Amino acid sequence: MVALLTGSLLPSSSTAQNTALNARIAKLSAAQEAKVIACRRDLHEHPELGNEEKRTAGIVAEQLKKLGLEVQTGVARTGVVGILRGGKPGPVVALRADMDGLPVTETAPVPFASKARTTYNGQEVGVMHACGHDTHVAMLLSTAEVLSAVKKDLPGTVKFIFQPAEEGSLPGVVGGAKLMVQEGVLDNPKVDAIFGLHINAQTEVGTLKYRPEGTMAAADVFTIKVKGKSAHGAYPWLAVDPVVTAAQIVTGLQTIISRQSELTQDAAVITVGMIHGGVRNNIIPEQVELTGTIRTLDKDMQQKIWAAVRRTATNIAESAGAGAEVDIVNYAPITYNDPRLTEQMAPTLRRVAGPAHVTVQKAVTGAEDFAYFQEKVPGLFVFVGGMPKGKNPADTAPHHTPNFFIDDSGLTLGVQTLATLAADYLGAKK
Ligand SMILES: [Zn+2]
Ligand SMILES: [Zn+2]
Repeated sequence: MVALLTGSLLPSSSTAQNTALNARIAKLSAAQEAKVIACRRDLHEHPELGNEEKRTAGIVAEQLKKLGLEVQTGVARTGVVGILRGGKPGPVVALRADMDGLPVTETAPVPFASKARTTYNGQEVGVMHACGHDTHVAMLLSTAEVLSAVKKDLPGTVKFIFQPAEEGSLPGVVGGAKLMVQEGVLDNPKVDAIFGLHINAQTEVGTLKYRPEGTMAAADVFTIKVKGKSAHGAYPWLAVDPVVTAAQIVTGLQTIISRQSELTQDAAVITVGMIHGGVRNNIIPEQVELTGTIRTLDKDMQQKIWAAVRRTATNIAESAGAGAEVDIVNYAPITYNDPRLTEQMAPTLRRVAGPAHVTVQKAVTGAEDFAYFQEKVPGLFVFVGGMPKGKNPADTAPHHTPNFFIDDSGLTLGVQTLATLAADYLGAKK
């Protein structure tokens, strides 16, 4: 472990106090305040669902071109990539922002509230930036402007990745970070490390949070088809009852977390979200289908839990004389902050926000598709505060809800964080 932590992953001067350059970045970031807020509010008022971020992508591409970056559009459908080449040779660092909104109808009392509507999965719905991805786009555009202003002092290249469809594509459609990686977004030039930010509505403005290793959970979808034998409800002895068997499986699955998982190592969750079976009160059906989600923060635990779900479902079914077909599909990998990269960049976070405003946070059992980039290259995903100062997190609307609210006075900290992470990683010296 010691060898692992002292091994050199980054250019040697990466976390040196690049005082002069850091100070210029701080000043340039602060000067972005009016711009980043205006941009964010415009995007907030005009949200677009995943894979439909056409207006957003247009704004992004235009701004990046104005800054003189090399721009690619149509990456993973609506994604935009900008490349900024520094004045000196060096490594390649990527910064990522996701661009999509959600099918949520906004009720937040802000003058720039969304009135957008669209059709999603055949239903007419409101569209809202209910996860704050509008702030991510605005922060990364301002970061591009800040780093463009200091580019002659950057030893290396910065790749700006504006990603579509983080919240997921329609079932069966590959999109978002996974598709960007498949299309080679981490190649040409080859990315050495990647950084990403997420705004957080329950974290005070001015604060940064991070966690080494498993930060956000892997999300796996499981389906269990319990196969029995149909009969009249009055004669259960003629049936193999999949309803009772499915109920036992739901209960059995609960013991995987409570009795079989080492919870001091990391958290894990199994939730059954759907049970479908039967058409009538007095007919025992032939089949019942259970669908649920598994959340894990550690790859080893994930493998053990997958095996336990299979074992539990199959053997409970067998004990009833029924059968169980278990299907588990990974939906998003673990958002895994590379421990060496995290340790080397933590001083940058403390320098930018001030040591009192940087905390090592608890793991999150939600998932984030930034994980797909981190599967390929070392990455660090950081949370930045968007809650008004002095407010109780318990009194704020959660992400993905109609009343979700972000205090955008915290956005310049995000800009400075991204720009300084990139500059420090490239080992810029002035
Ligand atoms: Zn979200
Ligand atoms: Zn999000």
